[in-house]
Amino acid sequence: MSAKIIDGKQIAADIRAELKAEVANLKTKGIVPGIGVILVGADPASISYVTAKEKACEEIGIYSDDNRLPAETSEKDLLALVNKMNNDPKINGILVQLPLPKHIDEQKILLAIAPAKDVDGFHPVSVGKMCIGQKTFLPCTPHGVVQLLVRAGVKLDGAEVVIVGRSNIVGKPLANMLIQKSPTGNATVTVCHTRTKDIAYHTKRADIVIAAAGRPNTITADMVKPGVVIIDVGVNRIADATKKNGFRLVGDVDFEGLKEKASLITPVPGGVGPMTITMLLYNTVESAKMANGN
Ligand code: NAP
Repeated sequence: MSAKIIDGKQIAADIRAELKAEVANLKTKGIVPGIGVILVGADPASISYVTAKEKACEEIGIYSDDNRLPAETSEKDLLALVNKMNNDPKINGILVQLPLPKHIDEQKILLAIAPAKDVDGFHPVSVGKMCIGQKTFLPCTPHGVVQLLVRAGVKLDGAEVVIVGRSNIVGKPLANMLIQKSPTGNATVTVCHTRTKDIAYHTKRADIVIAAAGRPNTITADMVKPGVVIIDVGVNRIADATKKNGFRLVGDVDFEGLKEKASLITPVPGGVGPMTITMLLYNTVESAKMANGN
């Protein structure tokens, strides 16, 4: 068997085209979705993430209020900016790029974001609502994974899903979304981690394996059954002398081995990655609609 590739770039482009049309329609009613972006310091990876997010916003017509602050910005000043955005009707979503400098308490800042503008879906109010199945902002990477599965036509109802990784930003929220009593849930979910005794025991009976461990080759072909669906969330840099920059990106699964055994598989890059920013755009548009009574 040779697996069909789940093309995250194409699915993300489809969703962005839908959002662009929706934003154009909102603009005819005088509604312009807006996002407040805050970057503290000059970490190169954070600069590139923020730049990519702002470019994506611009492409679909979301207004972004760009705030690049020096690394020595005080916690008090950052809180004041978050509060200003909380009260600014032009801002529907607030994005504080993490990590923050060590002298700033990240949790304090994330808690200060009004839940109605929490487009990253990290605020405890958003997390609590997600757990009890209420409408809320879903965290972007796990929501992107669910959308990839749904749009690739994978049956979730009754499926055996094994997630490897239990972080607060990927594994835990993803497990929660997939067990909801809803058309995009209804799966039976097992979550594995570093204390799981025998990961292969679980993955071998899974219809869908989702790897979010941050370690290359966590899932190999001998650990799964034929026809499995593989979603690879991992992004790892490994040394590659043939590349100009000296490294290449790989996921958490043995892609070459698994593509002969799986029915569907996501590549890295080009799988889950493009979905994360896309779901941030989705949350911002939803927030603008809610703020205007839709
Ligand atoms: P994280 O906070 O480091 O969590 C990793 C999880 O995997 C932990 O729960 C850990 O278990 C588990 N784990 C690590 N090694 C394992 C192993 N050998 N066997 C079983 N479980 C193992 O990472 P994260 O933030 O969730 O991210 C996971 C990966 O996804 C990373 O590669 C990250 O770069 C990538 N990512 C990609 C996107 C995207 O947009 N594409 C977004 C977010 C993250 P313990 O809890 O027991 O330590």
